Amino acid sequence: MANSQEWSVEALADLRERYRAERERRVRPDGVRQYLAAAEFGYYADDPYAGETAEREPLRDRVDVAVVGGGFGGILAGARLRRQGVERVRVIETGGDFGGTWYWNRYPGIHCDIESHVYLPMLDETGYVPEWKYAPGEEIRRHAVRIAEQFDLYRDALFSTAVTALTWDDATETWIVTTDRGDEFRATYVVTATGTLSELKLPGIPGIESFKGHTFHTSRWDYAYTGGTPDGGLARLADKRVGVVGTGATGIQVVPKLAEGAQHLYVFQRTPSTVDVRANRRTTAQDVGADHDGWARERRDNFLRIVSGEAAEADLVADQWTRSAGLLEKLLPSFRRHGDRAAFEAAYEAADAAKMNDIRARVEQIVTDPGTAEKLKPWYRYACKRPTFSDLYLQAFNRDNVTLVDTADSHGIERVTERGVVVGDTEYELDCLVFATGFSVGASGIHSGRLPVHGRNGVQLQDVWRKRGPRTLHGLTSNGFPNLIQLGGVQSTSSVNYTHVLDEHAVHAAALIAAAEAEGALVEPSCEAEDAWVTALAEGAADHEWFHAECTPGYYNAEGRGRPNGPTAYPHGAFAFHDLLRKWRAASLGEILHTRTVALD
Ligand code: NDP
Repeated sequence: MANSQEWSVEALADLRERYRAERERRVRPDGVRQYLAAAEFGYYADDPYAGETAEREPLRDRVDVAVVGGGFGGILAGARLRRQGVERVRVIETGGDFGGTWYWNRYPGIHCDIESHVYLPMLDETGYVPEWKYAPGEEIRRHAVRIAEQFDLYRDALFSTAVTALTWDDATETWIVTTDRGDEFRATYVVTATGTLSELKLPGIPGIESFKGHTFHTSRWDYAYTGGTPDGGLARLADKRVGVVGTGATGIQVVPKLAEGAQHLYVFQRTPSTVDVRANRRTTAQDVGADHDGWARERRDNFLRIVSGEAAEADLVADQWTRSAGLLEKLLPSFRRHGDRAAFEAAYEAADAAKMNDIRARVEQIVTDPGTAEKLKPWYRYACKRPTFSDLYLQAFNRDNVTLVDTADSHGIERVTERGVVVGDTEYELDCLVFATGFSVGASGIHSGRLPVHGRNGVQLQDVWRKRGPRTLHGLTSNGFPNLIQLGGVQSTSSVNYTHVLDEHAVHAAALIAAAEAEGALVEPSCEAEDAWVTALAEGAADHEWFHAECTPGYYNAEGRGRPNGPTAYPHGAFAFHDLLRKWRAASLGEILHTRTVALD
């Protein structure tokens, strides 16, 4: 980190004041209520990729494991279970195929924002070596399919199907899984892998439903209207005035392609992203050390070490994530906490200021119009929003057919009319309005109440958590809900490389199920084990809360309100959490097993 001596007390105070003022321009009294769920509009959420949904008879059978969700979490759980010989694994997925976020998000320009060789899971097991440092979305989607095929997950999978309830049956000690296709089947175990950012959201802008032009969300791209593919070539937009709302990680990737295709592109921005160097390039197996068994695991562990604040002998990935790793401590609760907080915070603030100055200087270097460059400069601390990377985004604003419309002073777009978008005194007439406005955090998960989970004695998980707060062991299992394993949930950990976290959870889930099968037992933590875990999580939580409470609004801080749910993650970082799980499996796995009273045939 940069030396705090480089920043005078006055300079840092001025910067803090600027950040505070910029935050005030954007905080809205309606907070997270400013957004609408896609369901409130109907067609925004429809699946454009599935084609006609084939009729099928409702299922009434029995499987070993039901996996809710066919994104990487569900695929990895399925694959790990298959590897240990579990026969009947049924993945249930709302999309028309495997892939999760990579099934839904196919917008032009889509790429992985983490190095492919650490983001794509099971490279060692599949023998696949990505061709680009940052893979295009379609390559990632195909890799999801590759794993599903290799581990024979298609055999029992249900697509275009949403699980509507999970109900534990005490009499048979199995779960009853019901779906929106009339299924009602049983499963000995349930693994939920419903994702954290899977429910698209739209801003509740007055008049949004009155727009008469064409409109869609980036996670449901309409190529029939735009022409082209995720690689670009949106030829049908050549005579169209297009507006895009949103300049987050998605907006940054989609804007350059829209700029190439549209007659004119209006980018409606509320908060500029930090846009750092990308330097994407083709890679060979030699470049990434793919010459021995286990190379991908080693590389992924090395990346996680660095972005979790652990010491590492080398930096194998060597990109802007790892080089800025010292500034990720506040991004997610996935970083090892450091000893002397006061000294650490001072050094951190100075390093943060230096990084943000570099980011703002880069805008000035690239964007030729000084007024536009000024609007594209982000004024907040680095970890307030997910950092973005692009060598095309800022450059797009040098084109004659691209206009940046800053909406910060009106807290976003003020009104949508039949013809277009109103900001200040100007109505921007549009043929097409694209929403790159992101996703509701956790809205699709079992914790949101959208998927009711009834455990022992009909007790509903969401009711217990509403009254007492979330209660788990390791974020993965809960007392009163036997044989239910929640992947990627609260009270575990997270990382910028989320597939790595999901894979560790999947390995753990498979180990729990293997142990239960070997002992003829149920998987269920005691209340005491949950109490101990919840207590362990409380350590260090406050450090994140003050930081995010001062941040510019976004989904990381419940639109400016600070962290929504108190202590939600293991406070010593993702790397340490995975180590803890491994040691716990070796020493204490038996504690979670309880004798069955019902024999399963
Ligand atoms: P975000 O929530 O990050 O961004 C939404 C954007 O919409 C923001 O710029 C927001 O502005 C803007 N917005 C919302 N309402 C209005 C309004 N009324 N007027 C004007 N602007 C508005 O969503 P993304 O889809 O960009 O990204 C979500 C997450 O998905 C990322 O953080 C990342 O985790 C993941 N992702 C990962 C990618 C990858 O390559 N791995 C690629 C893309 C996304 P404001 O900031 O002011 O709220």
